Amino acid sequence: MEVSRRNFLRTSLGGTAAGTALGSLAALGANLAPATARAQELRIRDAKTTPGVCPYCAVGCGTVVHAAGGKLLNIEGDVRSPVNQGNLCPKGAAIFQLHENKNRATKVLHRAPGAHAWEEWDLERAMNRVAELVKKTRDETFVEKSKDNKTLNHTLGIFSLGGATMDNEWNHVQQKLMRGLGVVAIENQARI
Ligand code: SF4
Repeated sequence: MEVSRRNFLRTSLGGTAAGTALGSLAALGANLAPATARAQELRIRDAKTTPGVCPYCAVGCGTVVHAAGGKLLNIEGDVRSPVNQGNLCPKGAAIFQLHENKNRATKVLHRAPGAHAWEEWDLERAMNRVAELVKKTRDETFVEKSKDNKTLNHTLGIFSLGGATMDNEWNHVQQKLMRGLGVVAIENQARI
């Protein structure tokens, strides 16, 4: 829908009025929680329930996944999980958007040095390019012996930084690969 100035003002004022009405209800002491819970209950009433695990970090919080008609409807914390007892951190609370998110990038984009535009690459090509650059850097920077003839067998030319979305298994394999290459600078952003 095209948003004209008039439409924008009308929608904003309508939204403000609705927000004000809800705010007033809450200010008068009305408890809106049951209505919200009821709406959620209706949405997932006939859904199939499957237990899951949050994929984002090694804490491994339990989730409950609701789906119906082959469509994902909701993901929430599992109260039966001894790990999180129904709670999810902000990242975990957003895992629904891993599936339902039209803004999620699903293609590899490459911007060549000095270029202004992004180019779409297929995954195979991108993986080969990464491997090629890692090999080249490793070969150029690998040091077998120190100046005083101590064995080093390392490279200081590569740094590995993991993220919170890497699970235990991935971290295990990443660590093996990096150590195998002689990388010593290995770090992870998620230090829980
Ligand atoms: S990302 Fe958050 S919700 Fe997911 S497992 Fe880790 S702590 Fe739990």
